[in-house]
Amino acid sequence: MTSGKWHSPPAELREAWVRAFSGEGGTDVPSPCPVCGAQALHRYYDLDRRYGEDEGRSGFVGRGSLWEWCRTCQAYEHYSAMVPAWWSVDRLLPSSELFHSPGPIDDVLARRIDPPANPPLQPTPQSRRG
Ligand SMILES: [Zn+2]
Repeated sequence: MTSGKWHSPPAELREAWVRAFSGEGGTDVPSPCPVCGAQALHRYYDLDRRYGEDEGRSGFVGRGSLWEWCRTCQAYEHYSAMVPAWWSVDRLLPSSELFHSPGPIDDVLARRIDPPANPPLQPTPQSRRG
């Protein structure tokens, strides 16, 4: 566990922080961290309430929360946010397991991204048959 080390990015880097996360994509953000320079930025949206058809907000699917963080220096931001339509990552955790800090989400992502020591990609006996 890494709880207790998470902190807000310094106020003077706030603009650079927002810029680093401005593109669309998945949980991996391609920009270097404005705080420490590491290629370790991540984000996660949790959809809390999907908009009804009559609520039509172009480009957004509902209301929820957004976490933006750096795995290396553990700077993070947490917002209430509208979940954009381009977000297509499956829910990683039930809302009840989410905290203000992204710690629990990062734990799940870290387990997903690190490749296993012995990838279980052996061909099955059936696939070898002529
Ligand atoms: Zn960092």
